[in-house]
Amino acid sequence: MGELLKTSQSGGKLSPCDIEANFDDLHPPLNDQQVNSWASRCLFCYDAPCITACPTAIDIPRFIRQIATDNVIGAAKTILSANIMGGTCARACPTEILCEQQCVLNTGEQEPIEIGALQRHAVDHLMDSAKTHPFKRAANTGKTIAVIGAGPAGLACAHELARLGHDVMVFEARAKAGGLNEYGLAAYKMAGDFAAKETKFITDIGGITIKTGQALGRDFSLQDLQDNYDAVFIGIGLTNMRNLGIAGEDLSGVSNALDFIETIRQTSDLSTLDPGEDVVIIGGGNTAIDAAVQAKRLGVNTVTLAYRRGAEQMGATNWEQDLAAKNGVIIKHWAKPVEIVGSGHVQAVRFERTQLLDGALSGTGDMFDLQAGSVLKAVGQTLVSDDLNVLDIRRGKILVDASGMTSVAGVYAGGDCIASGEDLTVQAVADGKNSALEMHKMLEG
Ligand code: SF4
Repeated sequence: MGELLKTSQSGGKLSPCDIEANFDDLHPPLNDQQVNSWASRCLFCYDAPCITACPTAIDIPRFIRQIATDNVIGAAKTILSANIMGGTCARACPTEILCEQQCVLNTGEQEPIEIGALQRHAVDHLMDSAKTHPFKRAANTGKTIAVIGAGPAGLACAHELARLGHDVMVFEARAKAGGLNEYGLAAYKMAGDFAAKETKFITDIGGITIKTGQALGRDFSLQDLQDNYDAVFIGIGLTNMRNLGIAGEDLSGVSNALDFIETIRQTSDLSTLDPGEDVVIIGGGNTAIDAAVQAKRLGVNTVTLAYRRGAEQMGATNWEQDLAAKNGVIIKHWAKPVEIVGSGHVQAVRFERTQLLDGALSGTGDMFDLQAGSVLKAVGQTLVSDDLNVLDIRRGKILVDASGMTSVAGVYAGGDCIASGEDLTVQAVADGKNSALEMHKMLEG
């Protein structure tokens, strides 16, 4: 189906079939000819810059050479031994600012190797065809480790620990494991219930138990885990939605973009969702784009994304911004929301135009209204830290040392909740895996 969407020919609502088509895989898998063509173009660089651009340091020239020599299972093992979520990262990573941007063929006259698509080809092949898990567990160490949060950081940590012979108990607050992979990424990036499939694949190594519906602070405390387990890993992400702090935020029709994305991800019938005719999204990151593009793909006529700064300051990559434009999303830069207007239900959002004066953002005093049937806020999340107050926390993030350990011995953390965290799945996977290796070193003395 690709990057463009189906629109109603009559100007009316989209048919259920058209909506389903709009939520197909954004990037369908490569066919064999495309795989061979891309794999044969790789130069298999010595000191390949594409490797250093990947937070999990996948040996990219090695796996592409394995694909080129018909060893696709070997290629998948190369990828998964560095990044057990190679399947999700191949789908959702902004490869255009990571490995593919660094590819030596990315010269303007030549295109970079489609590393993400080749990675997906190899990992999907293994996950679809292997009869047994590709990795074996080491002999049981007798140690049991608690992991809080079954998102990318927690699952990557659990997998590495299980592989090293430890038993792992994962506590997940929600009904399903997977974190943002399951609830927070656009459906067209994770088509075919891939997040659940990948979680099963990861836990199939053995030694990992996931307890869902178990929330820190409600069902257990950090101290409980310290008392009963040999070590603890915290991968709880950022779950407290930021508010705009303006009048009208409590009107009906105003909600969080992540809740909107979750509803789309968890529904069994997309055609039952109706976000209204004029959707205004406030924010400039990839979550704002995921919400805006999906609103268009559900058939909303007018979707406007408003951001208080310019295109260059948006957290969303250029590729994501282009995707939004191609899908008919109107992007308004230099627009700061000052009030949500309505009586009971939202009717409009009032904005003030902004500008940079000596590097500081300031309002111009010039106001305008955007008509809105619903408003989606995508202005970030913060850490829910009430139950973590024994840890050092700075600017709303958990402080960790180079090994991933927090200020409390034996308690590690990674992913979006730590101070150095970039909000990328691949960074969370790297954090989880690195902490697991450090915990193993500590536990084995
Ligand atoms: Fe291949 Fe590009 Fe990596 Fe070189 S930089 S190994 S050409 S993918």
